[in-house]
Amino acid sequence: MTTPEVGSRVPSADTLLTGTTSPGAVGAPFDAEAVRHDFPVLHRPVNGHPLVWLDNGATTQKPRQVIEALGAYYGVANSNIHRGAHTMAREATALFEESRTAVAAFLGAPSPEEIVFTRGTTEAINLVAQSWGRDNLGPGDEILVPVLEHHSNIVPWQLIAKERGARVVPVPLLADGTIDQDAYADLLSYRTQLVAVSHASNVLGTVPPLREMIALAHRYSATVLVDGAQAVAHFPVDVQELDADFYVFSGHKLFAPTGIGALYGKPELLAGMRPWQGGGNMIESVDFGETTYAPVPHRFEAGTGHIAGVVGLLSALKWLGALDRDAVVAYETALMDYAQQALSAVPGLELLGSAPERIAVLTFTLAGVDPSTVAEWLDRDGIAIRAGHHCAQPALRHFGLESAARASFALYNTPEEVDTLVSSLSRLRQQAG
Ligand code: PMP
Repeated sequence: MTTPEVGSRVPSADTLLTGTTSPGAVGAPFDAEAVRHDFPVLHRPVNGHPLVWLDNGATTQKPRQVIEALGAYYGVANSNIHRGAHTMAREATALFEESRTAVAAFLGAPSPEEIVFTRGTTEAINLVAQSWGRDNLGPGDEILVPVLEHHSNIVPWQLIAKERGARVVPVPLLADGTIDQDAYADLLSYRTQLVAVSHASNVLGTVPPLREMIALAHRYSATVLVDGAQAVAHFPVDVQELDADFYVFSGHKLFAPTGIGALYGKPELLAGMRPWQGGGNMIESVDFGETTYAPVPHRFEAGTGHIAGVVGLLSALKWLGALDRDAVVAYETALMDYAQQALSAVPGLELLGSAPERIAVLTFTLAGVDPSTVAEWLDRDGIAIRAGHHCAQPALRHFGLESAARASFALYNTPEEVDTLVSSLSRLRQQAG
């Protein structure tokens, strides 16, 4: 990575975020091999083997454009934002706000003012639970949460429900790992204040029929929060088309740095929400008599945020924006079909869930082998997968499991890597007898 010399360029997004044009520009067929050149880490060995990164559900790797944007930001543009009257504060603020505009465009939100930067999905959900939830949930109210949700879309609701005398009601799954839509329709009522549902499951890959689910919830005047943590890297999102009330995601699962994410909220909802954390940046005026708060979104951004992360997120969105996302979807779907077939051929391997609409996440068990042993075995071959409960214990328990192995794919994975995975698993299976 080359760090620009101080003063070598004026840090606007155009100059700071250079080299964001990736191979496979819009209109061209998607070329995973070309895209891999953007990811330095994919070319390192692990335990003497080429790295096969299949832990994308936990976090994606970062393209050099994002890595360089972080270096360039700190090299020529570092400043706190919003409050300074000097040139660098103005430049850093402009970058920060440009990223907000880019996030709004990325999510199909009408205005950047509907985007709040957070540490990630978990913080965004907690923000909504603590701010919106405290004023909109009361005794007898219900929050519907499908059984397949990540713990971060369950526990914040349990915490606020307990405080407010409301109830978290699980929406059951069908055998294939889809949400039981009949049960969902039955459970919805005028007691339902909120539906919290993921756009794609991190453990089963399930992509639910969200537009229909949201429309149904709105018939009961329920608010809907969508957890987009696993969705955003896999397919384009349009919050207006979904008619989502809140939409949240994490940058680190989207080729951007850790510690940065965003919350989208409909303006009428955000405007009515009380501050969550208090501090600098979120106020209009502070007085021991009465303190008034900044308008949204700044009201929800107390303290100094992860400015470099916001710039890194902008770089990641520009990088992703240079790709033909429909071609990426087609590529990942074909890759998942290939992986599904290849894995099914491994004796004793059982895949969890078979939802018709899903992202490239394959969770499995191997007869007679503990999932953690599977992960350790694969690691010796340089293959990174995840084993455990995947922060989705209710979903795993639906299948009678406490633990499973998970291979989760991204746009830079290849059929050859699937072959490497399958070959390693087949050897483990043979050895296990
Ligand atoms: N929801 C889903 C569906 C996830 O997969 C994850 C991360 N595994 C989260 C929420 C939490 O994301 P973060 O840890 O980045 O806040």
